Amino acid sequence: MPKRCPECGGELLYDRNTKTFVCTSCGRVYTRDELEAAYEALREGGGKVIGRRRPPL
Ligand SMILES: [Zn+2]
Repeated sequence: MPKRCPECGGELLYDRNTKTFVCTSCGRVYTRDELEAAYEALREGGGKVIGRRRPPL
């Protein structure tokens, strides 16, 4: 499945020459490491926001 830009959700194209992913929508460039870190941050951030519970007072 095509990778999605963590920034805008656009489609990412892999550039073999530079070994980076380029967003076709916003033009951002990611290395594989940056992309995985960004996905991880999104997962954790989203999970925290959605799953956050206030402790009962
Ligand atoms: Zn993008």
